[in-house]
Amino acid sequence: MVVCTESTIMSDDDVDSEFLGFHEMGLDDRLLKAISKSGWRKPTPIQEKAIPLALEGKDVLARARTGSGKTAAFCIPVIQKILAAKQSATEQCVRAVVLTPSKELCNQAFRNIKDLTSSCSREVRCVDISQPNPLPSQRPMLMEKPDIVVGTPSRVLAHIEAGNLCLRDSLEMVIIDEADLVFSFGYELDIKRLLEHLPKIYQAFLMSATLTEDVKALKKMVLHNAVILKLEESRLPETWQLAQYHIKCEDEDKFTLMCALFKLGLIRGKSILFVNSVDRCYKLKLFLEQFGVNACVLNSELPVNSRCHIVTQFNEDVYSYIIASDETLLADPKQKPQDKKKHKKKIHEYGVSRGIDFQNVSNVINFDFPRNVDSYIHRVGRTARGNNHGTALSFVNIKEMAMLQEVEDDLADHAPEGENLFKPYNFKMEEIEGFRYRSRDAMRAVTRLAIRDARMKEIRQELLTTEKLKSHFEDNPQDLQVLRHDKALHTVKKQVVLKHVPDYLVPKTLKNLQQEEKTDKTKKSNKPGPSRGQLKFKKRQADPLKSFEFTGLSSKKKKKK
Ligand code: AMP
Repeated sequence: MVVCTESTIMSDDDVDSEFLGFHEMGLDDRLLKAISKSGWRKPTPIQEKAIPLALEGKDVLARARTGSGKTAAFCIPVIQKILAAKQSATEQCVRAVVLTPSKELCNQAFRNIKDLTSSCSREVRCVDISQPNPLPSQRPMLMEKPDIVVGTPSRVLAHIEAGNLCLRDSLEMVIIDEADLVFSFGYELDIKRLLEHLPKIYQAFLMSATLTEDVKALKKMVLHNAVILKLEESRLPETWQLAQYHIKCEDEDKFTLMCALFKLGLIRGKSILFVNSVDRCYKLKLFLEQFGVNACVLNSELPVNSRCHIVTQFNEDVYSYIIASDETLLADPKQKPQDKKKHKKKIHEYGVSRGIDFQNVSNVINFDFPRNVDSYIHRVGRTARGNNHGTALSFVNIKEMAMLQEVEDDLADHAPEGENLFKPYNFKMEEIEGFRYRSRDAMRAVTRLAIRDARMKEIRQELLTTEKLKSHFEDNPQDLQVLRHDKALHTVKKQVVLKHVPDYLVPKTLKNLQQEEKTDKTKKSNKPGPSRGQLKFKKRQADPLKSFEFTGLSSKKKKKK
């Protein structure tokens, strides 16, 4: 293994800025095939820099925001190196261990590796041991010496100490993802003890969203003469990738607007709706339910397995809308420390969702504006991941205006010169007055009792699924697919009439827009030029009203089928 003789700090400018494609990295054809299957056309900046360094054998500490493609930045070289080693190897052994601070993140890394090894699954085998099953039940899969083992530090250590896993003789690579959370999640001691079981020489990668003191300490413990990659990137994707809008509206308007956006088919693609509390999650869910819009709720009250399952199904396009709450405690840094235990748990939850990858999210809607800048970045960072485009729309009431200003100020440095990062979303509220009456009707049904019932009902349902039916689902995984988390909770009265939108409710502006679009399309159909996707995104950026496309009401009906 080659080890750098000197620590090097590289920024975006230091590294040769010429674009390097996946095909030019000397990767195995099977790996290239899997990359192409994932639809990734070019490496993200972190991948472009980290993969060649890792393939050269260097230890790498990479600082990159979540959503930058950093998981694949280490998975690709790990798989490549295993494939290369296996050409001459005679014995099967564990060559790489991937450590992440939570079960959810382990599961995500495991899935990433599975996808990337889809064309060489026999040659490169990977197991995830993070699930809290009894150790002996996982022993058989470790006895087969999979090439890659994914787990939390404590879980990997437990298996080593139980004699189920030996890394001392064969391990070549150690990867720690979301490194900045490892210590704060209480794994410091486990890591120290784990290191005692590793060989003297191994290659290591540390991936982290921030370079905190904890990460520096971890670096000292794990890396040798590492290359430090600090990409000069903003905290959120650039404006060519992420469009950010805001609209001023008070609470009642928020519900009216939400209902209108859904019922007019203006929200296109998968979306996450963020609110500020668990009760608000259910309030919004029960409200939308009455209009026939099904969304699932994701919050820390639900059992871990349910949360994982919701994210997995969302990523598999089983449903399109998630209503999520982030952790209120973290939103207030001045919170008194009397509740230390609880606070740590909340940090944990927040951290967990930080790394979780919701794939192909077209829109993030801040139904409630986040309570601090970090939370804004954390939420909006769910869209425009990898090299995808995305839109963030924030509903802001008068009390939330100050925070909007704070976020704007914080992100101002990243706005293109002379431009505001936030564009107003010019929706003519007066044109959707018709929706206000319906929305009020629906709101009346969402009583406190209905919310409480919905909350309890869902937890009961989820517990039943995770505890009692666990073994059934292990034997019949296909049944788990049938289990949906976005079912109506029915704690409010059904109002069939709300589900349908008569023509008179469609705002004039949208009717005209639809007509314009049709004429536009016929005119352009013969001309060569930029792709449809590029045109659409450009249009969105130019005209907030077209941020979400009006598709007419028929498309809703089609979708339902
Ligand atoms: P991560 O930062 O590892 O959580 O990755 C965020 C998302 O980016 C994941 O959904 C990946 O599937 C996606 N992704 C990773 N690499 C690429 C790429 N080169 N092009 C497009 N999307 C990517």
